[in-house]
Amino acid sequence: MATVGERREDWRGEEYVIRGVTALGASKAYRCPGCDQEVRRGMAHLVVWPASGSPESDRRHWHSTCWAARDRRSPGVQRSRSAPRY
Ligand SMILES: [Zn+2]
Repeated sequence: MATVGERREDWRGEEYVIRGVTALGASKAYRCPGCDQEVRRGMAHLVVWPASGSPESDRRHWHSTCWAARDRRSPGVQRSRSAPRY
């Protein structure tokens, strides 16, 4: 897998490793967990995994825009967090 750069970001108290995948490196299609749409073959995107996890088994392929907007792109988690208490 051809990747470019690597950075770490905190998200919800956990540290994630983020790597860019070039268009040439995107030799397969993946499912983006942010929007549940396909990351098409040949599309530059990001591969992300928890720093405490394994890049082999825990990595997910995200559209770059979906990762950037991840807090808005996970309605399930957002909803449970902001759910009213009875
Ligand atoms: Zn996406």
